[in-house]
Amino acid sequence: MSKRTRLPPARERACSTKTAEGSMPTTSTPREALTSRASEPVPDPTSRTRSPSRIPANSISNGASRLERHRKFIGGEWVEARGGEREQILDPATGEVIAEVPRGSREDVDRAVDAAVQAFPAWSDSTPAERMTMVLRLADRIDAHAEELAQLESRNVGKPITASRADLPFISDNLRFFAGAARTLEGKATGEYVRGMTSWIRREPIGVVAQIAPWNYPLMMAIWKIGPALAAGNCVILKPSEWTPLTSLRLAELAADIFPPGVLNVVTGDGVPVGSSLVEHPRVGMVSLTGDVSTGKIVARTASDSLKKVHLELGGKAPVIVFDDAAVDAVVNMVKFAGFANTGQDCTAATRVLAGSRIHDALLEALVPAVESIKVGDPRDEAVEVGPLVSRQQLERVAGFVDRARASGARVLTGGDRLGDRGFFYRPSVVTEVAQDSELIQREVFGPVVTVQRFADDAQALAWANSVDYGLAASVWTRDIGRALRAARKLQFGTVWINTHFGLTAEMPHGGYKHSGYGKDMSVYALEEYTQVKHVMAALD
Ligand code: NAD
Repeated sequence: MSKRTRLPPARERACSTKTAEGSMPTTSTPREALTSRASEPVPDPTSRTRSPSRIPANSISNGASRLERHRKFIGGEWVEARGGEREQILDPATGEVIAEVPRGSREDVDRAVDAAVQAFPAWSDSTPAERMTMVLRLADRIDAHAEELAQLESRNVGKPITASRADLPFISDNLRFFAGAARTLEGKATGEYVRGMTSWIRREPIGVVAQIAPWNYPLMMAIWKIGPALAAGNCVILKPSEWTPLTSLRLAELAADIFPPGVLNVVTGDGVPVGSSLVEHPRVGMVSLTGDVSTGKIVARTASDSLKKVHLELGGKAPVIVFDDAAVDAVVNMVKFAGFANTGQDCTAATRVLAGSRIHDALLEALVPAVESIKVGDPRDEAVEVGPLVSRQQLERVAGFVDRARASGARVLTGGDRLGDRGFFYRPSVVTEVAQDSELIQREVFGPVVTVQRFADDAQALAWANSVDYGLAASVWTRDIGRALRAARKLQFGTVWINTHFGLTAEMPHGGYKHSGYGKDMSVYALEEYTQVKHVMAALD
């Protein structure tokens, strides 16, 4: 599978193996107040020139089993869960336990909210430039620890190491964008709209923001959330997925001596009670969720009780519309990559190919061998392009979709079965002869499965593309610019690509239409999400 061809800051994806084992000392350092920190000269931001002993450590080495035991990061301290319960973290390539993290409770959420509420006044009083300096230091530190983070993410998610490595420059670039862009936030109008009065706009942080992340790109999703929220002056409680918390905990470790206590907190644990307690909490002002549509509906309903602001980045079912005049090779190369990268566990995956009646057969003839050539295997192997699914549940879910489609008459041209009996591997699959109203077309599979449908004309292509509940991303392939522009206008998706698929860049927004959610990640739009607008009017006389 070819690597993504966009410039390094455009999204490239990848994975990791080395755990945080023994990499950090276990002493913690008292933290200075924000005010004293802000007046300090800016220290060298990279960990190469800073003593690692200044970073409070998290993982507790368990020498006998090489298992990592992690704690959660609340108010600048590494703490155990109040109830002492722990959750096991698996390596999806082997099914073996690689770490244990605290299983958080409602009490842990209360504690994190207390810490964040306490930190908010000083943090929101800091200047954008002061916050930028700290966020940039975190970006530098991520770069300095890029290989370690890539290894850790690869091991926890099962993502090929080459893909995890490719993600890291994009991740730190996103953080740098938010750091600088927060200095440019603006209101739309200032002036005298009423005689004797002057009015202006203030853009203010919301306060304590709960950020609930999924398992497919744990570190990237964490950065898309904490980057704009912190840069805009909010305090954050990040809840990583219960399956993939390791890079978020390492991120907290790397950030621990950069931000004042309570500004960034990480609480691990399950959706219920940790996620739900954050959403219900009366002192949390906003919740941002990236996850499944069903979780988004629960979060939106629950948040309505306290009228919290809600930001939802949910699932997708991206159509790839291939008109008859498209370049077959280009489409095949992109579908081979964007349909199967991260084992298809991507909300923008090129999962639903809609092909014109004249190009359909040639496309399938080239696509099937291309997909069969994908190297699936151990994520640590640098030649591997596709790793396992993240969990046994996800493997069973994907297999269930394909089995049910096959039973109802679909043709599985390649794949359609589990690979081996160790770990959670599924063979990259291409399925045809699927009806538009079938489950395989209408629901997000989130696995290495691409469907191909034949359409009769442009109107049918656009109708089929739009007739799903999702609306995150779509692509159109044609040499006819007018046709491409007409399609881009008619497609009900938050991102439309023309003769490409999958590219993202820090300056452009990412977010859905319809059931894919509301609110934007990335770009200045994401920063605005984490602010509220105030009108101040003053009498001139
Ligand atoms: P999920 O909805 O199962 O879980 C997401 C997070 O929500 C987890 O941290 C989970 O613990 C938490 N959660 C679960 N129940 C909760 C509740 N009742 N209250 C509060 N929090 C709760 O999703 P997932 O399986 O981890 O991630 C995969 C999904 O995420 C896919 O649908 C994918 O398309 C979507 N996704 C979307 C984007 C995007 O940008 N739109 C990006 C990545 C992933």
